[in-house]
Amino acid sequence: MAQQMQKSGNMHFYYAADSSRGYIDSLNFKVNNEQVNWCFLNDTNDICKIILNKKLLPGKSITISTPFFVEIPGENFSRLGHYGQSYQITQWYPKPAVYDNNGWQYFSYLNQGEFYSEFGKFDVSITLPENYFVAATGVLQNPEELEKIEKKAEETSKILKFNKVENGFPKSSEKYKTLRFVQDSVHDFAWFADKRFHILKGSIELPYSKKKVTTWVYFTNIEGNLWKNAINYVNNGVYYYSKWVGEYPYNQCTAVESALGAGGGMEYPMLTNIGWSGNAQSLENVIVHEVGHNWFYGILGFNERRHPWMDEGINSYYEERYTTEIVKNIGYYSSYNSLMKLLGIKLSNPFDFNKIACDYIARNGSDQPLDNSSENFITENYGIIAYSKGALSMNYLKNYLGTEIYDNCMRNFFNEWKFKHPSPNDLKNSFERCSGKDLSWFFDEILHNVKYSDYKFKKIKLNKKTSVYEFVIKNKGGLNSPLNYSILQNGKTIDSIWVDGFIGKKYFTITNNNFDEVLIDANNQMFEINRNNNQIRKNGILRKIEPLNFKLLGIAENPTKTQIFYSPVVGWNYADGIMPGLLIYNPILPERKFQYRLMPMYGINSKELTGIAFAEYNIYPYTTQLQKLSMFTNLQTFNSYTTKFYNWQKFDLGIMFLFKRKASKPMQQIDAEIKASKIISEYTKSNFLLLNTKIALNNRTKPLPFSCEFNFEFGPDYLKTWLEYKVQINYTNKNKGFSARIFAGAFIYNNNKYIQNNLNLSGTFGYNDYKFSEVFPDRLNSNVSNLWSHQFVKNDGGFTVLNPIYSRNWLTSVNFNAAFPVPLPLSIYLNIATYYNAKTAFDGSIQFPYELGIELNVLKDIFAIYFPITMSSDIKQTNEMFTTTYFAQIRFVLNFSKIVPFKYPNQLPLMF
Ligand SMILES: [Zn+2]
Repeated sequence: MAQQMQKSGNMHFYYAADSSRGYIDSLNFKVNNEQVNWCFLNDTNDICKIILNKKLLPGKSITISTPFFVEIPGENFSRLGHYGQSYQITQWYPKPAVYDNNGWQYFSYLNQGEFYSEFGKFDVSITLPENYFVAATGVLQNPEELEKIEKKAEETSKILKFNKVENGFPKSSEKYKTLRFVQDSVHDFAWFADKRFHILKGSIELPYSKKKVTTWVYFTNIEGNLWKNAINYVNNGVYYYSKWVGEYPYNQCTAVESALGAGGGMEYPMLTNIGWSGNAQSLENVIVHEVGHNWFYGILGFNERRHPWMDEGINSYYEERYTTEIVKNIGYYSSYNSLMKLLGIKLSNPFDFNKIACDYIARNGSDQPLDNSSENFITENYGIIAYSKGALSMNYLKNYLGTEIYDNCMRNFFNEWKFKHPSPNDLKNSFERCSGKDLSWFFDEILHNVKYSDYKFKKIKLNKKTSVYEFVIKNKGGLNSPLNYSILQNGKTIDSIWVDGFIGKKYFTITNNNFDEVLIDANNQMFEINRNNNQIRKNGILRKIEPLNFKLLGIAENPTKTQIFYSPVVGWNYADGIMPGLLIYNPILPERKFQYRLMPMYGINSKELTGIAFAEYNIYPYTTQLQKLSMFTNLQTFNSYTTKFYNWQKFDLGIMFLFKRKASKPMQQIDAEIKASKIISEYTKSNFLLLNTKIALNNRTKPLPFSCEFNFEFGPDYLKTWLEYKVQINYTNKNKGFSARIFAGAFIYNNNKYIQNNLNLSGTFGYNDYKFSEVFPDRLNSNVSNLWSHQFVKNDGGFTVLNPIYSRNWLTSVNFNAAFPVPLPLSIYLNIATYYNAKTAFDGSIQFPYELGIELNVLKDIFAIYFPITMSSDIKQTNEMFTTTYFAQIRFVLNFSKIVPFKYPNQLPLMF
């Protein structure tokens, strides 16, 4: 758990004091009251093996017992913990592993990854101060306590408004009580204790047996006003899951509001823990979802660690079906709705929201197969795939089978397998037997591959002989999954037809000629990755092309339109002056194979056409180590100015490789790029070609995030190579710390005399940016009294004081930075370098310049100002060639390319 949390960027447990982390000890296992040998498994500190003195033969039983002592974690790091005197007692006792037809199933506790436990009868007695209320798995055995709870429930039902401010915890009574809870046919036991609980009691009649189930909610003042109606949510959960999946077998069901370190809610048998919800819709969804887990995690007892989709995916499907069919709104997702509207996306039910999340990872190439063990998902994919993709896939299955057959299959499966730990294969066999259909497209392909449904219209024509319309659909996606198409007349659906999946092309006929278009998946019942090829019209030209749509400031894709977005833009640089222009682009979200951005502008000062044109084509291999291969081109032309205007142009053509992140290191990613750049500069009278090869590793894993980049640059008559390594050590859980950058650069050969391709001690500034790779609003200004001349890029030697020291052989440097432990973004820096020049002005021998100063980091990685304190004499002397004022020594970094989330830096419509 500690390792997984740290690797995914959650440093809460990592930085916690030992004394607050909690532990379990005092284990001493006995079998039938006899001492036995036991040990922890290799490399674990939470899985132990008991070595029986005598063999346990089939059909025989033994009694295993142990004392145990639990120190409750001081904070709620994950699921077990306490928040002041409010206790969340879950995963708190030594649990027997399940022995199923795959053998022993044991694993360590994880935050991202749930459970698999054996069914049994729990008989639990809890002793605690008398004024605590306890919500627990099982049925309370103390009549006098039940009376007290019912009295409390009556009191609570009379409260009209709950005071949101919680005034600490009431003093614990001196007197203690012992509560006993008993329950059969459950596989876990959790309890929550709080002295502040309000309680409500309800009851719900099950749909088939008409059996009554008692329902309870326990909550505090914090969200009391939302919880007033929560009994209805618990009742609805119990009722509709019983109706759709199978009858609830227990006598009661409870939801409790209590602190939670992992997610919005957490399920336990007959009992769910709900964190803070914020609004009624969210509370209803979370309660229904968590109550719903009783059927999958609980009664069916899936191995949710190995097959999280079976629990979260199937359960989310029912939660969303409840929201769609019963609540009839988009539920939990309504809080995102204004954002969605802004993006031009219409949500009509929660499945639409799932589709957005799934499209996002499908279209950027980071998707993973649905049936994966919890720990194999990269952090954000766990939620998107196990929940959203699982729900969406189940919805696809239901739409294909039809609600009636699907519901029959699920109820049949539930009754056949309850309390028996079924596997995905058991689910497949049961559904195939019940529906009479081959469901391998779902259980073999969707579960185990990253393949998508993408059906595409090829053509439509009238068969003159038969007077019947024929059309052809091609399967582009590689997933052999069922297809739904609809025939429309004047926008109204005349017919909607499901056909089994096929590979390649298939011919269809339409007997009734009264239609004007055919749509694939008109009602979002499938999971189509590319909906841009889902429409064909009977008549007209360009029948497969969706109508053109021009939109101001668009963002998101609308598959029923061919969208062209535009926006007026204004750029500025010192030479061109104000540049009015127009940005023309295609949808940005979700990622698409072909993307372009054109931004012609006009410089009012230079009276010249300036601007940028960018296009890329992406390939997502899905199966290999590669997430994305991107071929791109970028053209830009602007001016610079000293005494007259000088035009410059840059044309890039390149390939970028983005490698997949691994679940074991979700915050580490590798990318590589090969780029050819043609650069034409009037000022330096140069016209040359550069070829740059880069490989970079970026690891954001705390506490030691680091990045490493290696470059090769072929230019006219030279080959330059350099390595840059950055590492940060944080002092505390804040982003403050000590950082170091190591740079080493060398020319393998260098006969170039015409461009400033040097390794510069003090980085790149406008004047020597021969590659035009950075955004310098005033690139030729060397007058130190001008503000823009103080802008530089902290590359190469990384020195901050402006000086002309460079190397045409090799240069290496170390830049140290230590943040002051004060609430201001101030740090002290020390730069030390060494370099060598064989034959130039600053040659002779190896030099060791250094400088020391204070950094004001206004915006991390974007805007920082450097105030030098002291420096070696060589820097001081060379700096004095420019100026003698202190102001001239102060320089700043303003990294425009980090401000806007565009991939290639010079595209931002702010300044150039
Ligand atoms: Zn869940």
